[in-house]
Amino acid sequence: MSSNHEKTNIVIIGAGASGLTLATFLHKSGIPCVVLEKRNRSYIEVRQRAGVVEARGVRMFERWGLADKLLGGPVAATIEYRLNGVGRVFEIAGDHGSPSRFCTQQMLVNNLLRELIDSMGGDVRFDVDSITIQNEEGQRPNVSYTDANGAHELTCDYVVGCDADHGVSRTSIPDGVLTRYSHEFGYAWLAVLVEAPVKGHPIMAVSDRGFAAQLPRGPQRSRYYLQCALSDTAEDWPDERIWNEIRLRTGDQALVNVQVHDKFFVPLRSVVYEPMQYRNLFLAGDAAHLVPPTGAKGMNLALHDVDVLAQGFVRAIAEGDTTELLRYSETCLPDLWKYQEFSVWMTDTMHDAGNARQHGVFRQRTARARLDALFSSPAAGQLHGDYLRGTV
Ligand SMILES: Cc1cc2nc3c(=O)[nH]c(=O)nc-3n(C[C@H](O)[C@H](O)[C@H](O)COP(=O)(O)OP(=O)(O)OC[C@H]3O[C@@H](n4cnc5c(N)ncnc54)[C@H](O)[C@@H]3O)c2cc1C
Repeated sequence: MSSNHEKTNIVIIGAGASGLTLATFLHKSGIPCVVLEKRNRSYIEVRQRAGVVEARGVRMFERWGLADKLLGGPVAATIEYRLNGVGRVFEIAGDHGSPSRFCTQQMLVNNLLRELIDSMGGDVRFDVDSITIQNEEGQRPNVSYTDANGAHELTCDYVVGCDADHGVSRTSIPDGVLTRYSHEFGYAWLAVLVEAPVKGHPIMAVSDRGFAAQLPRGPQRSRYYLQCALSDTAEDWPDERIWNEIRLRTGDQALVNVQVHDKFFVPLRSVVYEPMQYRNLFLAGDAAHLVPPTGAKGMNLALHDVDVLAQGFVRAIAEGDTTELLRYSETCLPDLWKYQEFSVWMTDTMHDAGNARQHGVFRQRTARARLDALFSSPAAGQLHGDYLRGTV
């Protein structure tokens, strides 16, 4: 076999939150794997997205003995729901296990890179191109790719697609195998990062002008989100307009303009692909499903997928029992649909309760009643806290 043709147990495509977490769990369990990533390490180190590892994820890292090394940031104990400038603080903490943490995705990914590559000597290959996956019935999968040194091939037992919505893993599956279920909400969020911390609680602001949020992204930074039209572009949102809208939607006229950066638009949509596996290829995270960011579940669902997968691989490879692995999709999908439902609930409630122009006054009143119930009904509050913690 040439040096460009190697063997391993598992090839993971994508070194994002899910791919790096899975590789770290496998390494810890003594199972060889190779991660193939199309970007370079510096690019991945600065990519900023999610802000919270929910309680379920914290407990997962504790179970794998990695929480102390991978997680940082304060406890995520509260969130303020504000309606036309009037805030009510919802207490998230509530059950008896470890709480959710304001650990940004960037912090988690950087800690994973250090632990996996620098401490464990894990094999993560950056800057790879032209990945193709052969996953034929009754044969070991073959993954070929190119890099600066030429063409390479990896023969393995299993391939895991952790390469998000536009990757190659899902598209390598023949037409007709997967079914795509989706829902479009009909509006978008403008996202900006600012060098100014959240003062007080993280804010989800419902207003007659539309939705806005301010969420922590580390001790000195925060992310603002503003509901906007799907067709809006950066030209529609000069910085002055962004700050005026933030002041009006949050009801905080004392906010001063600071420089905004990392400005982009997120169309709000929900997507699920079923099943999440085909022969020896498994899909995890955004490669298998998307949620609108309102419920803060995307990264957390990705972490849950790879927890289930890693346990299945340990049973299959170390103990020769493939039962759990073959049930991967069946195990993940009911849980996934539960959190899809929560994300739809959050998105509809936060947006319908605001500007009635989108869905009418009837939907506005019912959404405001749902929001009220979180504070007036202990049962509704308990369930909402369970969803936020990921412990439903
Ligand atoms: C603005 C925004 C805010 C968000 N906020 C939250 C939040 O508050 N809470 C939350 O839980 N989630 C949030 N999310 C969602 C979260 O970021 C994603 O769900 C999460 O990154 C999914 O992890 P992943 O590993 O599946 O994909 P990713 O983290 O996207 O990783 C995929 C990796 O695959 C690589 N890749 C892609 N194509 C290829 C290829 N062809 N070959 C090799 N490698 C490839 C990519 O470069 C990337 O490194 C947010 C997302 C956005 C955009």
